[in-house]
Amino acid sequence: NTLQTVALNNGVTMPRLGFGVWQVGDDEAVTAVGLALDAGYRSIDTASAYGNERGVGRAVRAADLPRDEVFVTTKLWNADHGHDAALKAFDTSLAKLDLEYVDLYLVHWPMPARDDYVDTWRALERIAGEGRARAVGVSNFAVPHLERLAAETGLVPAVNQIELHPYFTQPELRAHHAAHGIATEAWSPLGQGRGLLDDPVLGRIAAAHDRSPAQVVLRWHLQSGNIAIPKSVTPSRIKENHALSDFTLTLEDMDSIDALDRDTRYGPDPLRFNAS
Ligand code: NAD
Repeated sequence: NTLQTVALNNGVTMPRLGFGVWQVGDDEAVTAVGLALDAGYRSIDTASAYGNERGVGRAVRAADLPRDEVFVTTKLWNADHGHDAALKAFDTSLAKLDLEYVDLYLVHWPMPARDDYVDTWRALERIAGEGRARAVGVSNFAVPHLERLAAETGLVPAVNQIELHPYFTQPELRAHHAAHGIATEAWSPLGQGRGLLDDPVLGRIAAAHDRSPAQVVLRWHLQSGNIAIPKSVTPSRIKENHALSDFTLTLEDMDSIDALDRDTRYGPDPLRFNAS
């Protein structure tokens, strides 16, 4: 079922719906990820920068699930760019997670001012070759960054995780992904809960389907072909955000939601973001 999983460009299967844990503390992550796995999520999105890889790993190991049924993503932080630094950063993440491998390892930001994401990417290629990450990808990369990776290394990222929601739909970048076999993963898929979910168009569609605006937005992501990783630490919302399989948006609903795009980011612009 292509609404449930996506085949990445190296053949690895990834769930389309995952659970994000940005701004969730290490201890809180144990509880939240445990609740998410109980609710049926089979993909967890963390990062070295989130400071909760230990908690995420603990919850994944504690779950009564075979390791190969949970898809774990983590990310390389900006201070760890460069070939050798990247190899070291990966070892640290894997040790904190206390897992034998991760499913997906991402370069968190391209860091254009440092300009060594190509060397970083070669390190990820090696990590993938060793089987310690089943797939490797990037986050917040723009078209020129993606083109440079392909030209200089020949390895196309499996995934580009980017800010994406109905107010910021990034059509050109998504078209580039589609043309090059890169899966589109949406971060802040609910617009961080900051206003988007109060949009009257979403309210009208939600009422028509007897679902919440958050469920409508997540269903829009899945029907648009995106991977989405909503975050919540509220038990009822964790469940709500996973309950998407028993309704379908019409083509008209999809067009109305597509038309909400206002080309406005909530997060930083990757071309200018160089914090480490
Ligand atoms: P999100 O769009 O998932 O929104 C989460 C917020 O929306 C919650 O904190 C809550 O306030 C609200 N919310 C959640 N469920 C709701 C519901 N059912 N009803 C009403 N309100 C609800 O925001 P996010 O956390 O920024 O993004 C999700 C994940 O994406 C992160 O946890 C992280 O894993 C990832 N992310 C990655 C990057 C990156 O640079 N790669 C950047 C930001 C986020």
